[in-house]
Amino acid sequence: MTDKTDLSRRRFLSRAAVTVATIPVAALVLHPHRSALADKPKAEDGHAHDYVNDAADTDHAEYESGEKCKNCAFWSGETEPGWGGCYHPAFQDVQVNAEGWCSVYVRGS
Ligand code: SF4
Repeated sequence: MTDKTDLSRRRFLSRAAVTVATIPVAALVLHPHRSALADKPKAEDGHAHDYVNDAADTDHAEYESGEKCKNCAFWSGETEPGWGGCYHPAFQDVQVNAEGWCSVYVRGS
């Protein structure tokens, strides 16, 4: 019984140590990317490729209902509520709006 308790305690301590060691590494890897993106200015309407911050504002012929930055294949994730990054070269220097749209939109998964 004591051996079983010792084994469980050792497993628990081992997993706890791995978890504690992993969190700071993940923070170092992920944080600079998010932080650098959040420092970029927010895109304005017309930034490139007929971009608009609100997809509802476009009357572009290629726009289809439901298309938004947050479901585009170029969307890299949120940096702050409602804003995020875009992998497309024309948007590397700005954050784009999750509800935005531009004419190079590609449906994501
Ligand atoms: S490429 Fe996609 S994510 Fe980037 S601005 Fe255009 S619609 Fe938004």
